[in-house]
Amino acid sequence: MIPPIANNFVAGETPDSALSHVEGLNDDGVAGILNLLGEHYEDPANATEDTEEYIQLARMIADRDADACVSVKPSQLGIDISGEVFEENLGRIVDAADCRVWVDMEDHTTTDTTLDAYEKYTRQTDGNMGLCVQANLKRTGEDLEQLADLPGKVRLVKGAYDEPAEIAHKDKDTVDAVYKDLLEYAFREFDGGIGVGSHDPEMISYARELHEEYGTPYEVQMLMGVRESAQTELAAEGIPVYQYIPYGSKWFSYFYRRVRERKENLAFAARAVLTG
Ligand code: FAD
Repeated sequence: MIPPIANNFVAGETPDSALSHVEGLNDDGVAGILNLLGEHYEDPANATEDTEEYIQLARMIADRDADACVSVKPSQLGIDISGEVFEENLGRIVDAADCRVWVDMEDHTTTDTTLDAYEKYTRQTDGNMGLCVQANLKRTGEDLEQLADLPGKVRLVKGAYDEPAEIAHKDKDTVDAVYKDLLEYAFREFDGGIGVGSHDPEMISYARELHEEYGTPYEVQMLMGVRESAQTELAAEGIPVYQYIPYGSKWFSYFYRRVRERKENLAFAARAVLTG
């Protein structure tokens, strides 16, 4: 059982608990992006197991008519085992799901394989997919040019992985400036829609300006447990908001990461527990 303090960041251990969380959010006008926690599998059986759970989850989303989609991690679908294992598992989920299938982006060693598999399936689904790209990687401008020709959505994030300086911007101000440049490019060149994957008020207000200028559809995506009042306020203004919702038995390392990257998260979680 997940202790109350981690409950703010993780929606229980089962698909049922995650969907109950989504239903509460939907009542406030916020949609869900469900992620089963799990990564870096070396045994193909683990990757198959998570693939099957995503297939089941996609069916439950449709049966319960929830406003939700899924986001998968390449390494939970077997990218560390081989590109073929990852591609096959992703294909099974995409075939089974009626909802959008997002693909998270992991460290730079997986970028090419992830892009190739995404390109293959997003064409087949006529764009009912989405891919995350990271502003801290120097290659992302070129990747976006390639993605602009494909159907599907792109989620732009700043990047969560500690990458080598030869291939990545390391300084926060530079990453922020590059994020804005890439966002401007995406609003100018994409028509499939853009996911602004950031909690940063500056990036969200810049996206609002760009939407006014170019008219491109966009959505704001934030994590469960982070700036939740901003999520409902933006949704109340009519901006599509998606909350990224992790769930599953492997919750501990995810919760620990959230607390390590921002100590206020622990204070916030503790306050939420104490004040009910
Ligand atoms: P930061 O640059 O960390 O902070 C900027 C400002 O945002 C802060 O000054 C503050 O005002 C506000 N803020 C940030 N965090 C908090 C907080 N906890 N509480 C209150 N205010 C806060 N990374 C990947 O590499 N691959 C992925 O697939 C991926 N998927 C993601 C999906 C979603 C939906 C989101 C939101 C992020 C994802 N990330 C992913 C993580 C991302 O790369 C960043 O590491 C993370 O979002 C932190 O950057 P930021 O833009 O949110 O804000």
